[in-house]
Amino acid sequence: AGLPAPAPAPPPAQHVFSDPAEIEALRGNLLAWYDKCKRDLPWRTLAATEPDADRRAYAVWVSEVMLQQTQVATVISYYNRWMQKWPTLQALAQASLEEVNELWAGLGYYSRGKRLQEAARKVVSELAGQMPRTAEDLQRLLPGVGRYTAGAIASISYRQATGVVDGNVIRVLCRLRCIGADSSSPAVVDQLWDMANALVDRSRPGDFNQALMELGATVCVPKAPLCGECPVKQHCRARRRKLFGKPTPVPDVEDCGVGGCPLCPPAAEPWDSSLGVANFPRKAAKKQPRVTRTATCVLERRGCHGALEYLIVQRPSSGLLAGLWEFPSLPLSQGLQEEKQKEVLADHLQAWMGQPMATGGLRFIGEVTHIFSHIHQTYVVYSLPLDGDVTLDPASSPSRWVTEEEFHASAVSTAMKKVL
Ligand code: SF4
Repeated sequence: AGLPAPAPAPPPAQHVFSDPAEIEALRGNLLAWYDKCKRDLPWRTLAATEPDADRRAYAVWVSEVMLQQTQVATVISYYNRWMQKWPTLQALAQASLEEVNELWAGLGYYSRGKRLQEAARKVVSELAGQMPRTAEDLQRLLPGVGRYTAGAIASISYRQATGVVDGNVIRVLCRLRCIGADSSSPAVVDQLWDMANALVDRSRPGDFNQALMELGATVCVPKAPLCGECPVKQHCRARRRKLFGKPTPVPDVEDCGVGGCPLCPPAAEPWDSSLGVANFPRKAAKKQPRVTRTATCVLERRGCHGALEYLIVQRPSSGLLAGLWEFPSLPLSQGLQEEKQKEVLADHLQAWMGQPMATGGLRFIGEVTHIFSHIHQTYVVYSLPLDGDVTLDPASSPSRWVTEEEFHASAVSTAMKKVL
């Protein structure tokens, strides 16, 4: 008792960068490539030219949140519209969730926009409008800002020499250093952050981090990486191994020569020469998505100018697709027959409209499948034409009638657009 815990063993040499000269060379090669090949992106231009640190940080933050689960090509127009509408944190803090959802519609993972706006309010109301100035404070003080986003904002906007680890960086680093253990395991994640912090260029940290991510997005891609064109190929152990085979072909020894190495591929799944460098990284098997079915009903009527109008209702302000608008919908239990589905949907609509409803009017239209992050959702779509006016129970969710054009301009999810 009382003895200090032993320090964790350093990772085996095969998996780290320990030669300062090699680190220096890698930084130089990567930055030279980035200067030549980088994509011109609006947030990069702003981060390089905007003199105000809060504005730089805000722009990088918005772009990083949008980029988290969305491709660059899609993000550009959303980013431009967002910055035009809310060029500062102060402007965003005054926006309503409705406006945020409307602008975000189609980008997916809607809670991102909501959280961004909530955090902006916090900066304005509790931090006197000033963004925290280090990665540590950004992560500590801003809700929804994790280690990656904090590192990206601090390195790009404030030139703090701090690394970042995202999916692209994981792939590049695992390949550079033959890390084949499950890349989501805590041991590997810690190792990758340590490596990113050790490698990041001290004078151009933001460019270095973006270069590493860009390399992963354009050269060191998942399936067929362009190793021949790679600016850091001479530092890449996966490539060396692909070209020259196993360095020390001794039977019954772990890949890097250290028995039970926590960073090598598991002994049961050794190097597969048909995969080459794509042996790395390795991930634990993905969880199966949850399969759900939802009945949804497109209620339609002729509006006063003769155009068709549809009824949409607002979802609760928390949970999946918070605050978005949708056609009246109801989750279905598994294995429900069509007649039964109609009945429960009719009951739901009846309770909600406060008037009796015959199931006969409900017409089955078809099914729409949409995959959210972890949910495989099937919408069973019905339509119901209504004559005259309908009085809705004011105690139920907010609702409104919209034309097709208004529908598309509303904060509706991509799934609902497919339904229409
Ligand atoms: Fe990736 Fe190939 Fe470059 Fe290695 S050499 S970092 S595997 S692109």
